[in-house]
Order: sequence, then structure tokens, then C-alpha cells
Amino acid sequence: MGISEKKKGKIAKVSGPLVVAEGMYQSRMNNMVWVSEQSLVGEIVELKGDLASIQVYEETAGIGPGEPVEDLGEPLSIELGPGLIGHIFDGIQRPLEVIREKAGDNIPRGLLVPSLDRGKKWAFSPQVKKGDKVEAGDIIGLVQETSLVEHRILAPPGIQGEIIEIKEGNFTVEEVIAEVKGPKKTVGIKMIQRWPVRKERPYREKLIPRGPLITGQRVIDTLFPLAEGGTACVPGPFGSGKTVIQHALAKWVNAEIIVYVGCGERGNEMTDVLLEFPKLLDPYSGEPLMKRTILIANTSNMPVAAREASIYTGVTIGEYFRDMGYNVALMADSTSRWAEALREISGRLEEMPGDEGYPAYLGTRIADFYERAGLSKCLGKDERLGSLSIIGAVSPPGGDLTDPVVQGTLRVVKVFWSLEDKLAYERHFPAINWLNSYSLYQSMADEYFKKEVNAEFVKMRKDAMLVLQKESELQEIVKLIGVDALSPEDRLTLDLAKSIREDFLHQNAFHEIDTYSSLKKQYWMLKLILFLGEKCQTALSRKVPLEKLLNLKVKEDIARLKLIPEEQLDKMELVLNKIVNEIEAFTKE
Ligand code: ADP
Repeated sequence: MGISEKKKGKIAKVSGPLVVAEGMYQSRMNNMVWVSEQSLVGEIVELKGDLASIQVYEETAGIGPGEPVEDLGEPLSIELGPGLIGHIFDGIQRPLEVIREKAGDNIPRGLLVPSLDRGKKWAFSPQVKKGDKVEAGDIIGLVQETSLVEHRILAPPGIQGEIIEIKEGNFTVEEVIAEVKGPKKTVGIKMIQRWPVRKERPYREKLIPRGPLITGQRVIDTLFPLAEGGTACVPGPFGSGKTVIQHALAKWVNAEIIVYVGCGERGNEMTDVLLEFPKLLDPYSGEPLMKRTILIANTSNMPVAAREASIYTGVTIGEYFRDMGYNVALMADSTSRWAEALREISGRLEEMPGDEGYPAYLGTRIADFYERAGLSKCLGKDERLGSLSIIGAVSPPGGDLTDPVVQGTLRVVKVFWSLEDKLAYERHFPAINWLNSYSLYQSMADEYFKKEVNAEFVKMRKDAMLVLQKESELQEIVKLIGVDALSPEDRLTLDLAKSIREDFLHQNAFHEIDTYSSLKKQYWMLKLILFLGEKCQTALSRKVPLEKLLNLKVKEDIARLKLIPEEQLDKMELVLNKIVNEIEAFTKE
């Protein structure tokens, strides 16, 4: 038997997305295989003797026992190099535009197209010269991939030695652009490299996140901040504003690269993303956001198993750009669909089910995924820092937060933005519930705010939270005995809480100015709201009637703070004076 034949087996059984092949003597776990005459892409997920269970990433209808299965001898891997940005890939990294060109709208099975364009020439400018010593992670050269992204070509993991040849000019990803003479052999470096998706890409060291990932969304930055290299979970009941918030984050978050993984959401929602994302403009440059975005989207004719592949493909691409020293934000929507896929495959493998039929390893898989986020000291001599932040949407049935996927996620992520349909019905957007959301990066963000914005900010943030908590207690009392039973002080507290909610937390993603607030603006807005609250309490203690305080004219100014443009923040101080004057006038009376 020849080597190549040894690696071939035969289909013994087909069960939905799971195929069992026999005669797979030389196979290894997680190896990539081609299944049937049509070469459908699959991955070995269980091995027992010569029997390999394969999860197939394409529709398996019509294939049957006896057809060949070929082990490709490497784990499921993707291609990394120039040509990723701006493209939409499916879960196994096939570029959807190319497929459509080749095959029209009905994507045939087993269609093999390279992930990165083989014909395109990229202008490569070297950053090293002959005789230089290089090691894995060193920047060998640069390619301006889009007007917004400079692709840094790194010496791939495992490389060490001396540059004996370096080129400059236009090359395809498969041409050798440098040669490195190592202790044992000389290696030609191309702009393309392959990487197994389930394996975390190497880095020098992971650091504790140091700075917030600024999103321009007030409820997030001020109350529940995310970190550069942090992880967040956001449940997304239908109509709760999940899509809007994801778009807002993709647009405004201060990350250089956005990876969006649409993981088998209902067909129409994915279409939304596919149609809408390419229309979004990068607010910083005015260019299409796609010039620094990569979309991974499963087409509706791909089986559930492909969701798993898309999660790993997305995170691997994210790490690759992190390695270059970028801040990358990855959004995965929805990880619940991925978990359902795990459940289905596990069921077909007849594994022992855990909670609600999910496999017992659900928690570990979720954790492994989020643990690939982080702030990293990258490989390479120049001590670059790069970060990968992961924001995972979950969609538990009926919004039930005791769902195993939500629980598994909350165990690993550090931020929880509790998006609620109830708030959305009340048109409070972003519909993030301020009472049960949390961020474990708060103290890190506090340090940053103290230094970069204002030392007062931290106290203000805490005060605002206390007012909101007090409001919810008071509302219980109001429900029982009515608002008239409250003391005037408490009535003022309720009024202040309303102002915090409506004038600060509420943010209209579609308003040109309101869509983004800098930290400085957030600080000023909250400062003025709380300042007014405090002045009112003092005035009340000096016998100014409650009615007057509830109907101050300056409240109109407070309601319009969000519409003050970033370049006119000095107007905030005028409002401060107005508050002082109006209250003083009453106190004198
Ligand atoms: P989901 O994706 O959760 O089903 P969407 O993101 O499509 O929900 O939001 C539903 C609707 O809610 C939007 O069409 C929009 O009118 C409104 N909406 C959501 N978030 C905001 C926001 N931040 N500002 C203004 N309107 C919003």
C-alpha cells in the first residue's frame, strides 16, 4: 500500500453533519479530511481504532457509504497573509465573493477556492536587510493592504536565523520575499502562512489588561467598561438592539481591526450584517469600515458544524493581527448557535450529555475560546503589544440567563452587558440594564480615568450607580404606596435618577452627534447632571419648594448636553454657571 492510499478510508455511515469513516489507520484527532467524491471539508472529532468520526462542514445529503475519505495529514488550518481585510469568508475560510463569481448564488459543495487571492500582487517594502538576525515575530516587511491597514509581514513562528536574501517590489502571497539561514537549514519566507485554527498562536507573554477599550457608548465606558484585550458577554433577545450595538461598537471602538463572526444566526439576521456592514463608514477616516474589517459568515446551506469552524477561524485571524501589534476587536454572534452545534454533534457521537443536553465539555470549549483574548507582548524583538478583545453575543431561549451557555460564558468573561428587551420596548437604548450588568475591569478603568480624564470621574461614576440603585428601591415603595408617600429628598433622588437614565445613559446610535461621546464629554455630562442633583438637595434643605426644583429651566440644557459637539465642550461650563445662577436665585427668594 502506498503512503497516499494508507491515508484514505471509506465512509461507513452518514448521520447528518457527522460521517463515520473506516480504514482511517493513520489519522489523527482534528485532522482535516475530504469526504466523498465531492471532497467535502471535514474534521476528525473522534477516533476509535480505524473508525474516525468526522464533523463535516458542508451539507452531507446524498453522500453515502463506500465513498472515499481522504486525510489531508494536517489539522484544520487557515491561510493568513495580505488579502484578508475587507473580505467575507465562510466558516472554512472560503471567500464568498470569489465563490459567487465562480458558481453564482447557489454555492456548490466541495468547491475548492483558495482563501487568499493567488494572483494579486502586493507591494512589499522590506524592513530588514541582508545580514540582519531575525527571530519569530520580527517585522520583515510591510504591505499597505488597504488604505486603513498596514499589514506587517512577520517572521513566522519557529523561524530564527540570518537574512541572506530580502526582496522589494510587487509579489504574490506565494512568492518568496526573504530567505533566512537558520542553524539547520535555510527557509524561504512567503507572505502567506497556514495556521491550525484550534491552536492558539504564540506570544511572548500575556499581560493584565491596562487600559479600557473605549467605545464612545456612555453606559459602557462609564459604567461597564471593557478592556483592551478583555472579554464581554452580551445576551441579545430579539429586538433588544443587539445589531445596533454591534454596529456602534464596530464603528467606534478604538481598535484598529474588527473581526465579525456571524455564527449561524437566523438567515435574515446574517443577511442584515452582510448587507449593512459593507455600507458602514469608518468615522475616523470617512472610508468604508470594511477597509479594516473581516467578516466570517456561514451561508444558510452550511450545516451546523460550520459554526464551530467559523468561531475558530475568526479568533485565529484576530490573533494574527494582534501579533502584528494591533488592537483587534472580535465580535461573535451568536455563540449560542455554536453551542447548539456542539450539542448536536455530541448527541450524534452518543457522548454522555451534560446540562440540558449540551456536552459536558461545553464550559471548557467556551473558556478556551475566550481565553484566546488578551493583551499580549507579541513575539519579535521590538516588544510590541497587541490585543485581542472578544465580545460574544449569546441568545438564550426565552432570554433565560440560567441557560448553560450563558452560565458557561459568564464564568470566563469579565464584562456582562445585560441587554434587555424590556428596556427596548420602553425605547431606552442601548438597552443595557444598569442594575445587573457588571464589569470586572472597573478598577483598572478607574485608574485610567483618574489619570487621563479627571480624578473626580471615579467618585461620580460610583455616585451615579448609587442613585440608580436607590431609584430601584424607591420604585418598590412607590409601587406599594404611591409617589406622594415619599419624602421630598427621595422625590429629588428619583428625579436625578431619571436624568441619569434619560440624559446620560440613553444614547441614540443614529444621531450624528449623540452616536459617540468622548470620555471628556462623558465626564462633563455626568458632572453636570450630578452637580444639579446636589444643588437641588441643598436648595431643598434651605426651604426651596420641591415643585420649583423639579421644574428648573436649566433642565432643558441638561437634556441637550448629549447634542453638544465634541469640539464645543466648553459650552458645558456655561451650563454649570446656569445651574448655579438659577438655584441661587431661588435660594435668595
Ligand atoms: P436586534 O438585532 O436585537 O433584533 P436591533 O439592533 O435591530 O435589534 O434593534 C431594533 C431597533 O431598536 C432598531 O431598529 C432601532 O430602531 C432601535 N435601536 C436599537 N438600539 C438603538 C440605539 N442605540 N439608538 C437608537 N435606536 C436603537
